[in-house]
Amino acid sequence: MKYAFCGKSGLQLPLISLGLWHNFGSASDKREARNMIVHAFEQGVTHFDIANNYGPPPGSAESNFGEILKSELAAHRDEMIISSKAGYLMWDGPYGNGSSRKYLMASINQSLKRTGLDYFDIFYSHRYDSATPVEETMQALVDIVRQGKALYVGLSNYPADKSREAMVYLQEQHVPCLIYQGKYSMFNRQPEQEILPVTDEFGSGFIAFSPLAQGVLTDKYLNGIPEQSRAADPAGFLRKEQVTDALVGKVRRLNELARKRGQSMAEMAIAWSLRDSRVTSVIVGTRNVKQLQDNLQSLNHLHFTTDELELIDSILDG
Ligand code: NDP
Repeated sequence: MKYAFCGKSGLQLPLISLGLWHNFGSASDKREARNMIVHAFEQGVTHFDIANNYGPPPGSAESNFGEILKSELAAHRDEMIISSKAGYLMWDGPYGNGSSRKYLMASINQSLKRTGLDYFDIFYSHRYDSATPVEETMQALVDIVRQGKALYVGLSNYPADKSREAMVYLQEQHVPCLIYQGKYSMFNRQPEQEILPVTDEFGSGFIAFSPLAQGVLTDKYLNGIPEQSRAADPAGFLRKEQVTDALVGKVRRLNELARKRGQSMAEMAIAWSLRDSRVTSVIVGTRNVKQLQDNLQSLNHLHFTTDELELIDSILDG
């Protein structure tokens, strides 16, 4: 594994982190979930990304992770960076959604209980909520750190202007924003123009989620939608209609380049997301150990020539 410093902090993250959004809830194969977590850790993937609502059902990814940690990796807690978040719908009523102090404080206590952890390494405000003043959410994050429930804090899915406001507040309270978590892949380059200049300015790291565009940036949809795929799963967040012929056509061309580079499509997409030094890590979601092994191979060939990058740009713009 290769590690990078997270922004200007002293914390290093693995270039590839493992996310538990899909495939780790009660509805998933528990044995495979265990195997993926143990394999990841054995390969130096020290960072595991969770959120209160990951499942299904919501909360079950945290409970399962806690069980696996306890039975397999309890002795290694100090070698791991575990994150959780609150922001999206978790329970009924006005206090189980959004970014109020009430919700964040209650949710982190529930998340600690479900995982059996004493603290999270990183706790995120999962989204900007226009109904809550940014100051209220940020003060809750500051207090979470002061109470010892998290070591660092992060933001996810905040627009760039609101991120700036939040980062200023956190900086003034001496609890700087360690990291911003945003969607970034060949098919979503918005962060290059919007949030990356902000994280760079404030010395925060950036961690990319869905670097494979939920699986579209792999070779799996080149011949239709396989039964065992997120697009075919009604509980998955990727809808069949999102796997368009236009996108698959681009992946076909990108896949040819990946082959010339001696990589799989997934490996090249991950390497590409890591080419910008402002990107600290990418969070991959995997269905099984085989996919994880494939994705980890990307670290063997991270470099792109100028010609390769230009070709990729022209395929993506085409
Ligand atoms: P990816 O873009 O990596 O998509 C993962 C999916 O791609 C897998 O479930 C699998 O799909 C497919 N896949 C992965 N590797 C391969 C491979 N080698 N070959 C073929 N197919 C492959 O990431 P996710 O969308 O899962 O997001 C990753 C993590 O980011 C989440 O777990 C979560 O921690 C975080 N996240 C955060 C969000 C936020 O709001 N902050 C939002 C979304 C994600 P299949 O099941 O079809 O096999």
